[in-house]
Amino acid sequence: MYFVKPPIAAAAYARISSDPTGQGLGVQRQLEDCRKLAESRGWSIAEEYVDNDVSAFGPKSRPAYVRMLDDLARGLRDGVVVYNLDRLHRQPRELEDFNAICKRAGVRHVITVTVDVDLGNDDGLFMARVIAAFAAKESGRKSARIKRQALQRAEQGRPSPSFRRPFGYTQDQMFVVESEAAVIKDLVARYIAGESISSLTAWLSREEVPTVSGAAWSPTSVRSVIRSPRIAGLRTHNSVVIAKALWPAIISEAEHDQVIAMSKTKQMQNRRAPRRYLLSGLLRCGRCGSRMASSSKHGKRWYICPQSQGLASCGRLSLAAESAELWIAEGVLARLDSPAMTATLAGGSANNYVQPALAKELEADREQLVDLGRMFGNREIGAEVWKAAREPIESRVRVAERRLAASSRNDALGGLPLGSPELRNKWTQLNLTRQAAIIGAVIDHLVVAPGIPWARAFDPDRLSPVWRL
Ligand SMILES: [Zn+2]
Repeated sequence: MYFVKPPIAAAAYARISSDPTGQGLGVQRQLEDCRKLAESRGWSIAEEYVDNDVSAFGPKSRPAYVRMLDDLARGLRDGVVVYNLDRLHRQPRELEDFNAICKRAGVRHVITVTVDVDLGNDDGLFMARVIAAFAAKESGRKSARIKRQALQRAEQGRPSPSFRRPFGYTQDQMFVVESEAAVIKDLVARYIAGESISSLTAWLSREEVPTVSGAAWSPTSVRSVIRSPRIAGLRTHNSVVIAKALWPAIISEAEHDQVIAMSKTKQMQNRRAPRRYLLSGLLRCGRCGSRMASSSKHGKRWYICPQSQGLASCGRLSLAAESAELWIAEGVLARLDSPAMTATLAGGSANNYVQPALAKELEADREQLVDLGRMFGNREIGAEVWKAAREPIESRVRVAERRLAASSRNDALGGLPLGSPELRNKWTQLNLTRQAAIIGAVIDHLVVAPGIPWARAFDPDRLSPVWRL
């Protein structure tokens, strides 16, 4: 045995790894054990390096480890104390890099609380390699175990751990925050009634409703709140609804389905800018049948048949927007006001029957999808079978979602004082999105007959509405 001077500027390394079983050692315990060991050997620790590695999967970022390697390479550290080698290296390759750096810097003191390793001789290095190989294997097994546990949690409807509490729920995600739940109910009702995301975002800011993080509301955050399956009491796993949640729902599943169906419809319409044109998407060119677009020209707003290369539309029709909009709004109000209409809406709200039935079908199909997902997750069926079985169900789901969106159009009329002089008053107070939703509930589309190009004078005979109601 030769005499080696004990390190006088050693590094102590500790790392928290993700360990849901709670069997792992906390950083404090690791550091205490390292300090005790160093003291018993007469080592001095110059610096403690601590990484907080809590992500279960994906690339590990270990800034403290990198800093320690750097200090070792620059000769600032002459030994390393660590609780166990698996805290230091997860992969055999990392050990080789570490070993190369120590060799170059002449560092041969690496001690662990569980086993002593002297990298300065072949036996020590061999032992370190064996330990690293085992650590790598264990790490693989652990991530499979963590994945299985996450799936199990989801199937049981338990929440997944989250750093920040979701809007509407307490930090443990099991209880409703009543004031926020009221906001969510409002948001969903208004969205279903046709209000746009940007208008809802503006409303939240105006009302000074606080977010969970304290940041301002954005269309993205509003969208993610109202589209979240969580608020309907549904638990997702990898973005698929997998079970009924253990926490209470804030809105019904039927409402959730309506929100999703409507947001899909809106995506298809791809309306980004705030609406300036009341009749966007409603007008058809009387020459070629194309959908008309909005445009501003000569300082006025117009609806035009679009003309551009590659388009089938004729580009030979224009309609001054303002007078046409006034005329159509008037027509819709008159129609909504008529006794016939009031009777239709009162007696024939087939909606009330269609929606629950549709929602039920949707739910059954979704449950089947969940079952299939679970079978695939449990490896009872392969990916091919999963895909083949999924496709017909998914196409049924798409059809049902479209029908739900259609029936929810009628919800745009909810809360309107039909058959009362109040209606006109109320109309002027509604914003453009809401007005457009109401017009869309009453009129399927309007055909615009040819007229004098760019004529400012309005000729109501050019417009033929195709009524929905
Ligand atoms: Zn045309």
